Amino acid sequence: MRCHAIVIGAGLAGSSAAERLAARGWTIDLIDAAQAPGQGASGNLAGVLRPLPSVDDNRLARLTRAGFAYACEHLRALTAAGLPLRWGQTGVLHLARDDQHAATQQRVIELQQPPGSDLRWVDRDEASQLAGWPVAIGGWWFPRGGWVDPASLCRANLARHAMAVRTHYGCAVAHIERQADLWHACDRAGQQIAEAPVLILANAAAARCFAPAAHLPLRAARGQVSHLPAASASPPTIVVCRLGYVTPAIDGLRCVGATFAIDDDEAAQRVADHAENLAKLDFILPGFARDLSPAELNGRVGCRPLSPDRLPMIGAIADAAIIDPDRPRRPLAEMPRLPGLYVINGFGARGIVWSALAGELLAGLITGAPLALADDLVGAVDPGRFLLRGRNRRVRSHS
Ligand SMILES: Cc1cc2nc3c(=O)[nH]c(=O)nc-3n(C[C@H](O)[C@H](O)[C@H](O)COP(=O)(O)OP(=O)(O)OC[C@H]3O[C@@H](n4cnc5c(N)ncnc54)[C@H](O)[C@@H]3O)c2cc1C
Repeated sequence: MRCHAIVIGAGLAGSSAAERLAARGWTIDLIDAAQAPGQGASGNLAGVLRPLPSVDDNRLARLTRAGFAYACEHLRALTAAGLPLRWGQTGVLHLARDDQHAATQQRVIELQQPPGSDLRWVDRDEASQLAGWPVAIGGWWFPRGGWVDPASLCRANLARHAMAVRTHYGCAVAHIERQADLWHACDRAGQQIAEAPVLILANAAAARCFAPAAHLPLRAARGQVSHLPAASASPPTIVVCRLGYVTPAIDGLRCVGATFAIDDDEAAQRVADHAENLAKLDFILPGFARDLSPAELNGRVGCRPLSPDRLPMIGAIADAAIIDPDRPRRPLAEMPRLPGLYVINGFGARGIVWSALAGELLAGLITGAPLALADDLVGAVDPGRFLLRGRNRRVRSHS
């Protein structure tokens, strides 16, 4: 097979897949409707990078731990290569919601005994010192967490092997089809934009517009962040979370967010959403939002691509047309797939944490290289999971 792929979508998902395939010598045709990479959900000023442990160390927790470790290595490698990535490993303070949650956070640490350089519990006084502001409760301290400018990560991914990536910006793909062993991506006028043996759908919830991916239960969750004017080095100089997040000052602005509304596609900012973000900020840092007026704030709106089980979709797309929903469950390994058609999607609110590992996993699946993830997690993110008997019905009722 020719080592050539079309990637539709130049956000975190598409740029990560392109980077990992290009690193293996592949040529990429990268297509995006926008005029530059990182203009969709991946276009916020900054987002949070940290894992999310759980008492039972469930699949989501294991995937975010693996994604976080891989992302830190990847970001360091991009920085070492001199690429224009903007991020800060400031540490992330994840305050407990209430006393019960504080007990759960402490229990996780007792059970899992992470190295203190990865995670430790801090009481209210230490948390206040870290935040540079009096907080109401203690929480988890992730010293290696931080913030990332996601659009700069997309640009850095694409710049790393720039010679291997042919970009087609300002091109909306309206139609995909497979003919004579090649996938063709065409615009609304039927003009071909690119053709290749492999096609990767990294175009967020819009992937469902293409017939072979119409069965994927992807949805969009609108999120609005608020930008607060902030003097550089003013506290907090770390990321602080508590049912929301606030970042350090970046270019004179602090990000506070974010709202979360499924199937709400209003592109314009709403004053009510800025008010909601200020309420979140007050919960994180009591009194910090006192002099701020929602009507005077600016920010940004984006739509997160979401899957119903909150896990991403990474892998080969099943041939839904030949799967009878009433036949007994078949193992994922035997599920019929559409040759050469893949998806990397459904990152929800964790695209910054997952995208580098997701790109590596997808490149491994496409090229047959060893996979960067445990087998059960590879199955957990397999897009074919939504066509398993029983699972299928459950998913439909959510969509
Ligand atoms: C408000 C908000 C806050 C967030 N905070 C965090 C955070 O703190 N930490 C974290 O880890 N994650 C966070 N996320 C999530 C993260 O940003 C997303 O998971 C990630 O950006 C999704 O990347 P993507 O590449 O799948 O989608 P996108 O970035 O949306 O990229 C999809 C691309 O596909 C293109 N496209 C769509 N259809 C077509 C077509 N037909 N033809 C050509 N191009 C097409 C679009 O133009 C777009 O550029 C946040 C997201 C939002 C919205």
